[in-house]
Amino acid sequence: MPIELKPTSSPLSDAERQAALADPGFGRVFTDHMVLARWDSARGWHDAELVPYGPLALDPATMVLHYGQEIFEGLKAYAQPDGGVAVFRPDANAARMARSAERMAMPPLPTELFVESVEALVRQDVAWVPRDPGKALYLRPFMIATEVGLGVRPANSYTYLLIASPAGAYFSRGVQPVTVWLSTEYTRAAPGGTGAAKTGGNYAASLAAQHEASQHGCDQVVWLDAAEHRWVEEMGGMNLFFVHGAGAHARLVTPSLTGTLLPGITRESLLTLAADLGLGVEERRISTQDWREGNENGEITEVFACGTAAVITPVGVVKSAAASWTVGDGGAGPVALQLRQAMLDIQHGTAPDPHGWMHRV
Ligand code: PMP
Repeated sequence: MPIELKPTSSPLSDAERQAALADPGFGRVFTDHMVLARWDSARGWHDAELVPYGPLALDPATMVLHYGQEIFEGLKAYAQPDGGVAVFRPDANAARMARSAERMAMPPLPTELFVESVEALVRQDVAWVPRDPGKALYLRPFMIATEVGLGVRPANSYTYLLIASPAGAYFSRGVQPVTVWLSTEYTRAAPGGTGAAKTGGNYAASLAAQHEASQHGCDQVVWLDAAEHRWVEEMGGMNLFFVHGAGAHARLVTPSLTGTLLPGITRESLLTLAADLGLGVEERRISTQDWREGNENGEITEVFACGTAAVITPVGVVKSAAASWTVGDGGAGPVALQLRQAMLDIQHGTAPDPHGWMHRV
């Protein structure tokens, strides 16, 4: 579908943009434009346009404001050494958004329209793609129910939007290990629920647990299964990997996709990359007891979290109501650092891209 371009006549000045790019933080400043597309049951997807970034006018009875029929995605565009820009695996994000749409009874956005929207916004706001190493342009596609009314049922109209925000390090301390809190009080997702979908409600429901984690001096929550609070699922916004053994014998273990955790695109990419590097990989259930005992007897040498925002972040210390322990020596381990560098090299175009993950715009 053609995206009609209606750019702003008053973009931010070069000086203002450069100031924003110098220290962007995460999700604080937004580029000059956004993309919108509309869906209704009569016309399907229509009226795709790129317009100046700005507020939305919504009727107070718009359905998304009441029942949370909303889904989103997150992916990044990286400056390349030849001066171009490439986006990491937009087709994978498009596919995940379509699966989230299905779970939330929303109309899937065609992959082509998703990728076209990314291309249109990145091309228009290309001056916003940070050139410094370690920075990128974070893209946030999302879809909301726009029908006006208070009946609880799938809406008959939706708007898809895409906004972009230059991003520095997600965790302000960079590759410094994080301290995590095992949440036995709260649950993120239950079987049959929405854990595998990227929908706002999952994140709203996580905030009280994140608060509890902060109160215990932890950076992030680790979610456990709903039934037994025994099996490790994922972190608040990242998937988890456990490194068994070390050196040439290192083996990566990550919780299997049970339907209650988000199928991370970084997770899937790392499983591929690790196998490329000759490391063993395994998807299976891991209990908190396995984790603790593995750290205590030295079988588990490293634990790290992975996601689009921070790529790879080591886990240094684990705390829970019952016990606390240190992972390895509490620092960033060699496997985490090697995989992190391999991933960053592909994303920043300084290494070959054997799997065709980088999408040139
Ligand atoms: N789990 C959750 C709950 C997340 O929000 C994210 C971020 N999208 C991830 C895992 C990591 O997914 P990805 O690698 O696709 O960013």
